[in-house]
Amino acid sequence: MNKVVIFPGSFDPITKGHENIIKRAIPLFDSIVVAVGENSEKKSYFKLKDRIQWIEEVLSDLPTVTVETYSGLTVDFCKQMKAKYLLRGLRTSADFEFERSIGQINKRLYPDIETVFMLAFPEFTPITSSIVRDVHRHKGNILDFIPTSIHSYFK
Ligand code: ADP
Repeated sequence: MNKVVIFPGSFDPITKGHENIIKRAIPLFDSIVVAVGENSEKKSYFKLKDRIQWIEEVLSDLPTVTVETYSGLTVDFCKQMKAKYLLRGLRTSADFEFERSIGQINKRLYPDIETVFMLAFPEFTPITSSIVRDVHRHKGNILDFIPTSIHSYFK
């Protein structure tokens, strides 16, 4: 069986926390699709084109991982990609509460889907894309929080 997992998110921008989840999921699945949601309600800070380029850079030596964009329901994208698994990272109990309802609703919408949660490594728990954006907006140094392979874009 070809086990495909979708890792959905905004990746605005991709962080070391995201990279860690992706790398740890590689041995568990045949292929991983990093799915950048285009949500018209939620305006992104970084351009979609840049976010994709940075993800591609991070994935360049990870042959079973690809990046796609999608709009609409995540479960519809899973069906389109023939994926039966959704991957999410958990940092805090707040993440858990949020993910629990999304996961349960997704299961109702698409009973074949299983959401797989991976606990954040302690050193990455404080890293959120939204804090990285704030630091960047105020001209702070974000290099500690983003994958090493994309540092050159922010120097
Ligand atoms: P969303 O807007 O869907 O939360 P994000 O891009 O912020 O999208 O996050 C995508 C996924 O990555 C989520 O499951 C989130 O919990 C997880 N994630 C984000 N930051 C980290 C981190 N530092 N460590 C582990 N998982 C993380």
